[in-house]
Amino acid sequence: MTARILVVDDIPANVRLLEVRLLAEYFEVLTANNGPDAIETCENGKVDVVLLDVMMPGMDGFEVCKRLKSDPATSHIPIVMVTALDQVSDRVRGLEAGADDFLTKPVNDLQLMTRVKSLVRLKSLTDELRLRASTTRNIGIEELLSRDFANEDVRPRVLLIDERRSSVERIQKMLRNIADLDVATEPNAGFFQAAETPYECVLISTAFADFDALRLCSQLRSLDRTRFLPIMLLADEGEEGRILRGLELGINDYLIRPIDQHELTARLRTQVRRKRYNDQLRASVAQTIEMAVIDGLTGLHNRRYLDSHLQTLFDRAVARRRPLSVMITDLDRFKSINDTHGHDGGDDVLREFARRLRKNVRGIDLACRFGGEEFVVVMPDTDGEVAEKVAERIRAEIAQAPFAIGSDGKMIEVTVSVGVSSLLRGADSVAALMKRADLALYEAKSGGRNRVVAKAA
Ligand code: GH3
Ligand code: MG
Ligand code: MG
Repeated sequence: MTARILVVDDIPANVRLLEVRLLAEYFEVLTANNGPDAIETCENGKVDVVLLDVMMPGMDGFEVCKRLKSDPATSHIPIVMVTALDQVSDRVRGLEAGADDFLTKPVNDLQLMTRVKSLVRLKSLTDELRLRASTTRNIGIEELLSRDFANEDVRPRVLLIDERRSSVERIQKMLRNIADLDVATEPNAGFFQAAETPYECVLISTAFADFDALRLCSQLRSLDRTRFLPIMLLADEGEEGRILRGLELGINDYLIRPIDQHELTARLRTQVRRKRYNDQLRASVAQTIEMAVIDGLTGLHNRRYLDSHLQTLFDRAVARRRPLSVMITDLDRFKSINDTHGHDGGDDVLREFARRLRKNVRGIDLACRFGGEEFVVVMPDTDGEVAEKVAERIRAEIAQAPFAIGSDGKMIEVTVSVGVSSLLRGADSVAALMKRADLALYEAKSGGRNRVVAKAA
């Protein structure tokens, strides 16, 4: 794992100390000796993690952190505050400024590497999602960010998996005002609970009498529903080897007993904040994907979706020996509607047509805008006879009531021609099925329009 780490400290010797250790682990290192330089470096991009000294003349670390976190261009960069004293008040201030983690000087090697590595891993996931969200759609990221911070008042749902009663009680007490905490004292029960409930973080104790906590971590990582669930390990002094194994398995963070309440709260908040941020990015990517398969004008699926999904419906019908029918509809003389009432008038007709179409098909039918003024409906479990009736109902529904267009309530007559085809027993294919529907449509057009033609199966 390689990444670019920015080390910020006003004392050159301190910078050098961290730099050497990071270089030894093959990280790329950038340095800054004061706050403004650090901010500039971050703004220029390509910083994966910032190690930020708190005490600096001029602009101190808290202020630098606050500024980086309030700028959407830099707010996703993880910041580790490096505090000179192990002062709780510093940690609290750091958190308020939005820091993701903190280290105490003199910096312990294991802590330095594990914190940096785990933040780099999170950052690369976030980067990937940001990239996907922004390449397909340029809006939303900044808005997502600001929404994310509004989210912070919502108490996170957390699961603690720990069999020691005393430890459970202590953690319950620490998180009483911070999180909605559920407890599982048995690891397998905890695993199922984590899979079934939308937790935002899970705390796993390493101290089971006869169960390896890391097995649980690896199970959670391999299950789809918990793959992105942050895991924090509660370990004992001297368990460094196990923690390292855990980090390799993908745990997100750890705490060493005796657990400090402020540290627990801080690390938990970081994990939850990141999870919420990534969840929103993921949702935005999902929305982008949805936009790629939905026709913007009518809200029906588009041709791309039909192309990818029709084969699946076809194969399923063949495998289950169930009927399947397809209809292609094409508005009659639509060009002249456009010519007479303008393109906007034409669009109104398309929207209203889609609405009537949707109203007349079942939920399991797949209605798509095939292109222009052509629409396709795929009807699973429907034989040719029924499909023809459905097509006739749609034709009548269009011809019966005129369409309102424009804002002045103008009404116009619209008609549609429909071609229907059905799955043949024996050799058939998606292409042949569509071809037959298209031929039927052509017959409906040449036969005078405003009619349905079905190709007998
Ligand atoms: P026919 O009865 O033979 O189907 O005649 P037609 O005029 O409907 O068929 P033709 O394919 O010649 O014309 C279709 C027209 O649909 C041409 C095109 O400008 C128009 N069109 C395609 N997409 C849109 C759209 O999104 N909005 C509007 N308003 N018009 C569109
Ligand atoms: Mg037409
Ligand atoms: Mg056409």
